[in-house]
Amino acid sequence: MKSDVRTEGRAVRESLGVNWANGIFLIFAHVAAVAALFFWSWPAVITALILYWVGGSLGIGMGFHRLLTHRGYNVPKPVEYFLVTCGTIALEGGPIQWVVTHRIHHAHADRAGDPHTPRDGGWWAHIGWILWGTAQNHDEATIAHYAPDLLKDGYYRWLNRFYYVPLLVVGVALFYFGGWGVLLWGVFLRVTVAFHATWLVNSATHLWGKTRFETDDDSRNSWWVALLTFGEGWHNNHHAHPTSARHGLRWYEFDLNWLGIRALQLIGLAHGIKRLRFNRASSAWQLVRSRVRTNET
Ligand SMILES: [Zn+2]
Ligand SMILES: [Zn+2]
Repeated sequence: MKSDVRTEGRAVRESLGVNWANGIFLIFAHVAAVAALFFWSWPAVITALILYWVGGSLGIGMGFHRLLTHRGYNVPKPVEYFLVTCGTIALEGGPIQWVVTHRIHHAHADRAGDPHTPRDGGWWAHIGWILWGTAQNHDEATIAHYAPDLLKDGYYRWLNRFYYVPLLVVGVALFYFGGWGVLLWGVFLRVTVAFHATWLVNSATHLWGKTRFETDDDSRNSWWVALLTFGEGWHNNHHAHPTSARHGLRWYEFDLNWLGIRALQLIGLAHGIKRLRFNRASSAWQLVRSRVRTNET
């Protein structure tokens, strides 16, 4: 993963010019999010909260990030497809493109080639990298280098191309059953807030917070980003041990994504779970793995 295959930091992205499609879409999403405030109702708010959890926790945290990108645990294929499909309703691009961007981030964290390091500016890390250059549209060579595992999967290749379809279906259903208010809250306001929550993991948790582990990047643990992202804010823990499915290591480190993975384990759906455990004898955190079922990979 240390190769320099088409990794695009700020200089390269800016030389490619403004990404108008993303810019216009993001302006529209923010305007629609503000418009949603004028259509307030309890069903709309509850719909938005439920979809924020489905997209952010089941989808991005448990699916795109801890399962697809880092393979911190195993689930049967139908469960994996369900979690990843949930991730597409966050509208953060196709699963393969998302994974490639994030694997590049880990391979080059806060060094040349990191797509969104705050060393190129805090706003750059937050939103600038989406607004200039290719954003998450990696070319075939880059994808083949960083995500050969996902390219083999026909469903992921399809979903990567048509990632907006599940949200389109959800949006039509929300409008049909709930009208404009539920659609504006459940899609536009919820997606816009979730964008910023995810981007805070790229910006805030590489700027502010505490460090438990010494890493060769600027990653930090941030309790308030963890609250907004169901546990993704324990980012220093994560950079130190990327394959651990558990990011919040102490009981007070809120990590709902980890609890979701534990729940899957309790009902027999998750196994081969990698997690950090504190070894008192050596006084150090160690990566351990739960039993792997032999009939699955
Ligand atoms: Zn990071
Ligand atoms: Zn990661």
